[in-house]
Amino acid sequence: MDLLKKLSFLFFFLTFVFPVYAFDVDELLDGDGLSSGFTHFLRIGIKTDVVSFSLEGDAKVFDKKERAVGEIQGRVTVSAAQGGIKVGSKVFNGDMVKFTSELIPLKFEGRMFRGEIEVYVKNSKLIVVNKLDIEDYVKGVINKEAIPSWPVEAKKTQAVLARTFAVYQKMFNPRSEFFDLAPTVLDQVYDGLGKEDVTSVEAVNATRGEVITLGNDPAKIYFHSTCGGTISSSAEIWKKDEPHLQELKCPYCTKSSLYRWKRNLKAAEIAKKLGVKSIKSISTVRGRTRVESVVVDGKKFPVNKFRELVGFSVIWSNDFTVTKSGANFVFSGKGAGHGVGVCQWGMAGMAAQGKNHYEILKFYLKGIEIRKMY
Ligand SMILES: [Zn+2]
Repeated sequence: MDLLKKLSFLFFFLTFVFPVYAFDVDELLDGDGLSSGFTHFLRIGIKTDVVSFSLEGDAKVFDKKERAVGEIQGRVTVSAAQGGIKVGSKVFNGDMVKFTSELIPLKFEGRMFRGEIEVYVKNSKLIVVNKLDIEDYVKGVINKEAIPSWPVEAKKTQAVLARTFAVYQKMFNPRSEFFDLAPTVLDQVYDGLGKEDVTSVEAVNATRGEVITLGNDPAKIYFHSTCGGTISSSAEIWKKDEPHLQELKCPYCTKSSLYRWKRNLKAAEIAKKLGVKSIKSISTVRGRTRVESVVVDGKKFPVNKFRELVGFSVIWSNDFTVTKSGANFVFSGKGAGHGVGVCQWGMAGMAAQGKNHYEILKFYLKGIEIRKMY
């Protein structure tokens, strides 16, 4: 059940959120490239628009100009105050303070975070930012995006994907003037170091600084749980051709529990979810490799709209057929997710057959290189 929960979370992220970025890659790739004095720190906006929060640790407090202005010991409440930020009973003037702890990670609302905690005040609300080394960030996220029991080469592959995603967002698409990434499905799910384990740390250390590049820039990467046998091109799925996101056959994801799936749904239940009275017929319109739209009694739904309404973890992918069976409709599908880029169960399958993470990434992403950024 835990695995299913994780999967459904992952699929929501991969299928619903990722396509948002599919249209802005070209405009964003005209940056200075990899050698432009990139520092390997990331800023994650772990909380925004709050009036107060709790922080615990033995830490020094610095102001915006990096001057040590105080310290905390134990648990304190941090809140927005007139003209500044109140920490415990003391008000620090100005619009920013920073907490650093050299020995033990700081605890923000009960969860531990590596690196520093920066606090900004804007319009009487606080923005809480965790500033940390990209490597520490990747250690915290890869078990959220990968299945913890996968072989280490699959985890290394996921580490390079997660790092590339973060670097790309920082360079070309930061979330706000205060931070690069959100800690949620909008970017990659991150809640501190609680998700780290021995193999995730090993996978990150073994790939330190490695980033997927296309030409001189980090590549915009996409991955999904299970392709079901065929990877689709971005040209087909998002109507935008990307050199590294091409159609190919993937024979490696057969171990996924969603390689093939079936859902038997009551017509009345689907009707309720779609907001219609009743349903007589459902059919699909297919593109080259996957369903483009679903036709319900003559009304056309784009496939992802249909999946969103019926449930991303009910209709697991955009590759399925529908048949009528009495008062029910039976959906028979292949794979899970949008089917573009790297197939995660495929990468686990390749790793199990002894392929290394370079071979895995180059199999799924055409024309890319993996370069050490630092
Ligand atoms: Zn696959």
